[in-house]
Amino acid sequence: MPYNELRKDYLLDRWVVIATERGRRPTDFAKQKKEPAQASVCPMCPGNEHMTPPAVLLYLNSNGEIVKDKDTNELRHKNWLIRCIPNLYPAFAPPKQQADELGVMKSDVFGLAVGHHEVLVESPNHEEHPANAELPQLVNVINGYIDRLRDLSAKPYVQYVSIFRNHGQEAGASLSHAHSQLIAMPLVPTTVDEEITESMNFLGQHGKCVFCDLIERESKSPRLILDNEHFAAIAPYASVNPLEFWILPKKHAANPLNLTEAEKESFAKTLKTTLKALKDLVNDPPYNYGIHISINKESRDCYHWHLEVYPKLAIWAGFEKNTGTYINTVPPETAAAELRKTITA
Ligand SMILES: [Zn+2]
Ligand SMILES: [Zn+2]
Ligand SMILES: [Zn+2]
Repeated sequence: MPYNELRKDYLLDRWVVIATERGRRPTDFAKQKKEPAQASVCPMCPGNEHMTPPAVLLYLNSNGEIVKDKDTNELRHKNWLIRCIPNLYPAFAPPKQQADELGVMKSDVFGLAVGHHEVLVESPNHEEHPANAELPQLVNVINGYIDRLRDLSAKPYVQYVSIFRNHGQEAGASLSHAHSQLIAMPLVPTTVDEEITESMNFLGQHGKCVFCDLIERESKSPRLILDNEHFAAIAPYASVNPLEFWILPKKHAANPLNLTEAEKESFAKTLKTTLKALKDLVNDPPYNYGIHISINKESRDCYHWHLEVYPKLAIWAGFEKNTGTYINTVPPETAAAELRKTITA
């Protein structure tokens, strides 16, 4: 029997054992759907706006036009398309006074978790998850991400904004209403920091962006899932999760703040197509996705934003937790082939 392969991430010092021979077929992971215990009242559904704090951003439907607004303590708007609200139990809380805005990090090993933690309700329709969303509504979601990113990243104490989505109870979604989260924090998190450092090294050594380079290389590899004018979706070479995939913009940019309308539409389409393929292939599995960005001017040339999707199909146990090395039983080449097949079917 041939050996399994040891593969290193494009940038991170992270190794994965890819089980090439005894690899499992992606469909082995399809689970019997169990109906989640539904809360009797969904605080994110229209009509229950009073159950959540005032929205910091609303897209309101005004005779077919989208108007942006906010709630006040007295007024909760109805008739919204997108509703972004502060998390009731924020991991990072806004500064209580102006003096707290600076010097949040007190030493190399201690800081205050000052920032923002928001929930972006993606649709008034409870079930409008990206895999089955109407495209114009998914464009609204992307615009919501970008509007909040612009606002949060301008704050003096914010060094990073994490935009992520938990889908399904096992992936950490406590409410099943379609929603994403944003966490603005006073430091650049380790994974992104390492990606930025390594991409800066690559730029220094090769005179080009490592992500632009890998998009070009992977577009010709068996790990390509789909490819259009503005985006590519690939199963990364050293995928940690079975059926993991990344969506990368072809235009070099460190963050999505300057996406054109055409690029936003293309991003929505790419996101929907790939997440629908994942849903169809393995029966709507739990997953997390997150966007990696940089808002720091120094990494404008080297860093290239992207969205990473981590299906939750395997359980990380003793070896993974003990070593930071992962075992993936679905080679990314198989993952890409199955996702491609599902898309064209
Ligand atoms: Zn709901
Ligand atoms: Zn690039
Ligand atoms: Zn990344």
